[in-house]
Amino acid sequence: MSQTWNQHVVKKENKSLVLQTVQQHAPISRANIAQVTGLNKGTVSSLISELIDEQLIYESGIGASSGGRRPVMLLPNEKAGFTISIGLEVNHMIAVLTDLQGDLIAEKKLPFQTKDVDSVLALLFAAIDHLKEQAPPSPYGIVGIGVGVPGVVTNEGDILLAPNLKWKQIPLKQLLSERYQLPIIIENEANAGAYGEKIYGAGKLANEIIYVSAGIGIGVGLILNGKLYKGLRGFSGELGHMTINKDGEQCRCGNQGCWELYASEQALLDQAKEIGFPEATVNQLVQAASQGHTDVLHLFEEIGDYLGVGITNCIHIFNPEQVIIGNTLQQAMPFMLPSIHKRIEQNAIGFNKHDVDLNVAKLADYSTVLGMTAFTIENFFHSTEQALIHP
Ligand SMILES: [Zn+2]
Repeated sequence: MSQTWNQHVVKKENKSLVLQTVQQHAPISRANIAQVTGLNKGTVSSLISELIDEQLIYESGIGASSGGRRPVMLLPNEKAGFTISIGLEVNHMIAVLTDLQGDLIAEKKLPFQTKDVDSVLALLFAAIDHLKEQAPPSPYGIVGIGVGVPGVVTNEGDILLAPNLKWKQIPLKQLLSERYQLPIIIENEANAGAYGEKIYGAGKLANEIIYVSAGIGIGVGLILNGKLYKGLRGFSGELGHMTINKDGEQCRCGNQGCWELYASEQALLDQAKEIGFPEATVNQLVQAASQGHTDVLHLFEEIGDYLGVGITNCIHIFNPEQVIIGNTLQQAMPFMLPSIHKRIEQNAIGFNKHDVDLNVAKLADYSTVLGMTAFTIENFFHSTEQALIHP
């Protein structure tokens, strides 16, 4: 039978719809797919056969019977391909290999001292090469690479500025594309962290999320209406540089009194020096606080208070359902949450303060890297579905 071009397009669209339906409702039977999509059973069966041939879905087990023969269930093939994602931080990176469901297959944590672009890129390439070798054989292989970076990233995947790495104008997407010939996604670490928590972490059930990445600096990832909000050119969420003290200290951004000067890991470590902890890490300060060190407890309270000031501002702007605190300072939350809550309670306008659910990142150190995984997986299925529609 020869098909007209129109019939051909309709068929591809239906196939894409069936694939999406399996991804969203698995395990699901052919009969239920027909019900959900409104396609007839014969069409669904033939499309399913093609998707099984392409190894994008597979049959598994037997579902509950509604009277007659028990139906065979269909599932997306999470081992059809793999992703590599990297969460690049200021002094280390986490690199992971995952399947198409985001489950970890292998990982590598690499600390680094030298921050120049060439050294860090060499390490990044080595991590990617290593994980590529760890990937089991699969029909689609590595379907993409995602890198979350602590800096301002353009929609084109260039790092405009990564102040804490002292990087400027690095065409990271282009560098990786040339080397690997794979789909590459580059995103700001707070944006990625927000998405990681939305897809796999504390924010699964929420659609309005403020993710506060409290590390050496502060960045904010915004999930609005269930989607990452990037602004016009991808630069949204630079809330670490909102002014909370107009005559305050000088910030490296050129302004004075930015939020991150008072509420970040850097602020904590700088002030720790003054109370006798010249070389401490956040972890060591948490230990000291656990042992009841009064000055450290007081310092955490103070930093938490300032975090609360900025979070209150975010609450007033966005009326979020959830605020999630991630990155390094999350380790100290047992000592900081009381003062954060207290500040929100004191400063937030009445109608705004009671709905907000304040959480610590559930993925801990993995919010950013798994956010990149989620972007990469979505991109693969999106382009597969596009290919199904426009062969
Ligand atoms: Zn600033």
